[in-house]
Parts: sequence; structure tokens; C-alpha cells
Amino acid sequence: MISIRDIRKVYHIGTEKVVALGRISLSVAQGEICCILGTSGSGKSTLLNVMAGLERPSRGSVIIGGTDVTKYSEKQWALFRQKNIGFIFQSYNLLPTMTAVENVALPLAFRGVAKELRTGKAVKMLRAVRLGDRLLHRPTQMSGGQQQRVGIARAFVARPKLIFADEPTGNLDSKTGQEVMDLMVAMARKYGETLIIVTHDPEIAKYAERIITIHDGCKVSDESNPAAAGKKEEPES
Ligand code: ATP
Ligand code: MG
Repeated sequence: MISIRDIRKVYHIGTEKVVALGRISLSVAQGEICCILGTSGSGKSTLLNVMAGLERPSRGSVIIGGTDVTKYSEKQWALFRQKNIGFIFQSYNLLPTMTAVENVALPLAFRGVAKELRTGKAVKMLRAVRLGDRLLHRPTQMSGGQQQRVGIARAFVARPKLIFADEPTGNLDSKTGQEVMDLMVAMARKYGETLIIVTHDPEIAKYAERIITIHDGCKVSDESNPAAAGKKEEPES
């Protein structure tokens, strides 16, 4: 589904040079649920941003679904992201003036789904994340865990090729964080989504069937995690 080859990312600040990514290569298959684990400053967000075209690599290539997207213009990337990539953020990034349903329906609007169909699809997805009783709530009227479930529904609703989550549990207490991980992983299995999650927390990484550890911008291990792969929990449909 996605493979990156020899990715290097160097930031230049004045005369200083920061090597955020050394020379990383990895491939994630269609339907795989994978965590990128590393301490603060190890380059996780940079790696995710390069894979999503939000940052340009200094060297190396990014191939998604057989297409080399490395040389895309900003405009091509923006369109490609809209069509193919879903995001889940640490701080949820929901639009504060919109209801849960409106927030979840947004990616469908961007993808040109007819207006009559959007609400139904958004409601279905909110039910799948067990928020059928919060459809008309706005972000400020929901708990952090509920807002993140809206964020998950929004990422999945348009069935993108790939979903990226950068510290999706970073603002949640550990119990809520674990519930959110359970749900995100179950949704990815149900819909066959490719899910790449970044975290600094080994307890969170355990939910993924594959854990890639990075340190100082380099990959130090890439291991399958059979304990998570065997676990199946069905979200509501
Ligand atoms: P955290 O867990 O704290 O979010 P991270 O693993 O996501 O950390 P990155 O944000 O990818 O780490 O940063 C990796 C390195 O690159 C850090 O040393 C950081 O200071 C540097 N860096 C990141 N973004 C920039 C930038 N825009 N300009 C310069 N240096 C940057
Ligand atoms: Mg980060």
C-alpha cells in the first residue's frame, strides 16, 4: 500500500542542520495496522508528515498504491490527500461550530458525495463509534474521548486508502486512550483500512499487529506483534 525508500529529512535553521530522519525505508501492506514507536524528538511526526506529503523529504521516495507521489506538486498532493488519506490528530481538530454529524460528513463533501447521501453515511459511522446519541453535539459539548471518536468516524467515513494517526491518545487518560485504540483498531479491521499510528507510548503500541521503533531518525526494529493480531473486537454497525 505504502512504501518509502531511503527517506532522509534534514531541516536547516540558520546555519544549523537538524537531521530529523536518517535513512528510513519501510513498507506497509493494504489492511495492515502498524504503530511507529519512538521517544520525543525521534522523528515520528516528521516521518508521518513525509508519508502524507505534508513535508518534502530531502532524499528518497514515497510510493502509495504503486504511484510515486514524491514529485507531486502541492496542488497534486492536496487533491491526492483529499481522495486517499484520512487523518486522526492528537487534539482532534474538529470544527467547533459544527455538530458531530457535520464534522464527520466533511470529507464526503470534499470528495463530491451527493448532499443527500452524506448525512446518512455520517450517522452510520457515528453509530459505529458508539456515538449514536451524540449526533447533534458540538465539540465543546463532548468529552475528549468522545471528540476523538468523532475524529475516528471522520477519518473512516470516506474509506480512504490510508489512515494516519499522530499520537491519537496523547490528550486522553490511559483508560480512555486504550478504549480509543481498541475502537480504532477494530474499525480498521472491519473496513480493511491501512492504519499507521504514531506514539511514544509502548502500552499504546501494543494494540497494533506490527510495531516499528525509531530512534534519532533511524529505524531500530520492525516486529510483528502476534498478541494484537489475534485480538478481534467488533465495532457496532
Ligand atoms: P514528539 O514525540 O515530541 O512529537 P517526534 O518523534 O514527533 O517527537 P519530530 O517532531 O518528528 O519528533 O522531530 C524530530 C526532530 O526534528 C526533532 O529534533 C525536532 O526538533 C526536529 N524538527 C521537527 N520539525 C522541525 C522543523 N520544522 N524545523 C526544524 N527542526 C524540526
Ligand atoms: Mg510528534
